[in-house]
Amino acid sequence: MQLEKVQDKREKEKQTIRLMIEIYCKKHHGQKLCPECQELYDYACMRIDRCPFMESKTFCSFCKVHCYGKQQREKIREVMRFSGPRMLFHHPILAIKHMILTIKYKRSQKKERKQEKK
Ligand SMILES: [Zn+2]
Repeated sequence: MQLEKVQDKREKEKQTIRLMIEIYCKKHHGQKLCPECQELYDYACMRIDRCPFMESKTFCSFCKVHCYGKQQREKIREVMRFSGPRMLFHHPILAIKHMILTIKYKRSQKKERKQEKK
């Protein structure tokens, strides 16, 4: 994959995470992005920028390596559980793209597992 495309992917992932955190924060903290959620977002961005697997993987939440710290990982999972379904309503195109990536990713994981068994 070209470097530009990888960069583009990083930006898109950041955008998606930001939207999800914003939806979560609005409901839970009554703000657009409170300091706590801002911190989580900054953390996610840092991981995205540093991720060496950006080319091959879909989204950090599916990454095998799990470079997130335990605490941050739990938090981001909570955000995704909450905002994932709501994304469909607020940002249908982004949500559908994310869903397609998820399905593709799960399929490729199944294939990998089958190949490992052989
Ligand atoms: Zn918040």
